[in-house]
Amino acid sequence: MRPDILERAFDTDHFKQQGVALLNILSDYFTAARANEIKANNYKSPEESLEFWKKQLKQEPFDFTTFLNDAIDQSMHLHHPRYVGHQVGVSLPSAALMGLLANVLNNGMAIYEVGQVAAPMEQVVVQSVAAQLGYGEAADGVLTSGGTLGNLTALLTARAVKAPTEVWKNGTQDQLAVMVSEEAHYCVDRAVKIMGWGEAGIIKVPTDEQFRMKIDLLETLYQKAIEQGIKVVAVVGSACTTSTGTYDNLDGIADFCQQHHLWFHVDGAHGAAAAFSARHQHLVEGMARADSIVMDFHKMLLTPALTTGVFYKEGKQSYKTFHQKAHYLWNNQDDTEWYNLGKRTFECTKLMMAARVYIQIKEYGFELWSTYVQRMFDLGKSFADLIKQAPNFELAVEPDCNIVCFRYVPFNDETDLSIVNEQIRQILYEKGDFYFVQTKLRGQTYLRTTLMNPFTTLSDLRELIKEIEATAMSIAPLEVQ
Ligand SMILES: *Cc1c(COP(=O)(O)O)cnc(C)c1O
Repeated sequence: MRPDILERAFDTDHFKQQGVALLNILSDYFTAARANEIKANNYKSPEESLEFWKKQLKQEPFDFTTFLNDAIDQSMHLHHPRYVGHQVGVSLPSAALMGLLANVLNNGMAIYEVGQVAAPMEQVVVQSVAAQLGYGEAADGVLTSGGTLGNLTALLTARAVKAPTEVWKNGTQDQLAVMVSEEAHYCVDRAVKIMGWGEAGIIKVPTDEQFRMKIDLLETLYQKAIEQGIKVVAVVGSACTTSTGTYDNLDGIADFCQQHHLWFHVDGAHGAAAAFSARHQHLVEGMARADSIVMDFHKMLLTPALTTGVFYKEGKQSYKTFHQKAHYLWNNQDDTEWYNLGKRTFECTKLMMAARVYIQIKEYGFELWSTYVQRMFDLGKSFADLIKQAPNFELAVEPDCNIVCFRYVPFNDETDLSIVNEQIRQILYEKGDFYFVQTKLRGQTYLRTTLMNPFTTLSDLRELIKEIEATAMSIAPLEVQ
């Protein structure tokens, strides 16, 4: 008779066998990706991919390594130096192992009793990183699942602190609003709509030719809002914007917020990490004056997703975000119990996400992030210089960081240029040697790269320029010449 299915599923030897197989395969993956022995991406259409996994599920007999190899082969390879696409971080191997630890222990850390390790670890991470961002002793915060949720969380705190009436109890009585650059990440708009403030709840501040918020317009827009009976509660600064990686003038926004007693929030999901690079700290000057900062560890800090810090200059404000009572979880809602993290986060069950950050600080110190951020931001500059020198290429904007937008411009017709660049992008995406994305800037399509991989070199980027040029020639040889 076969042993009980639960006995088999929890068998320790079986775990060890699969674990060793997984580690071996992942180690080989790291090596192969780094050495450019595999593609950055193995493209399959959505239909093909769905068919594949339907078939895979039914395949007999079950073979763990085949399954792992399939999953790895067909995923996007962030550890490939020619992955220069989205902003998701290239996970540090030791940080990735913490995922396994957390998943095995499965301690949901909403309350201290099951967060006996995770809660203090999170506290240590949040407070030591807050200090690096320039915050003082009173700072505190939480980790949460993603910048989108992080920004919503910070804006909920802003509402709790700055709204004229208690929204949590009475519902929205006033027309509240936040002011934010028109180039801000769409999650700010979404947060506003979730809070029920509607279209009037988001005042978009135009940007200049560098895509930076025109802060000299803040006062006029603010006065106009008041005339319309709109109560502005917060201004969100982007550090940096998602499309072009542009940093708003945070000091300028801080001055404005101070003058009008508004909540100043910095969406530093991607770029707050500039604080770790001596050469790039100036980009986030004024950030420490913000009431709250959101930073994704899973973008510029080598951490597996999702790991986001929501930092508050006055840590006690974080207890105002969610007011409702949950008597079965904690005794007194008014207590500032740092160790019952569920009080301050949207999530109830949350898995020891601090471990993925804690291990990095413990093993390498902040030097790891300083080195990484500085190298990637510098590479952004060097890549921009390459583009400026390349005939038929145009830089969208001088990059502040490691996000570089450009396009191929063999002729002058704007409509056709967008089409050509979209075609190039699609062909190279399907080819898979490089992975980069595209974005719309002032209505036109630009190619967008985010240099995330610590081992991407200038020669990889030279090859990318060559690939783009060759592709352009192949699609429209007459037009392009
Ligand atoms: C990526 C990004 C977000 C969204 O963060 P997620 O972690 O993907 O939810 C928000 N704001 C900015 C500026 C970003 O770059």
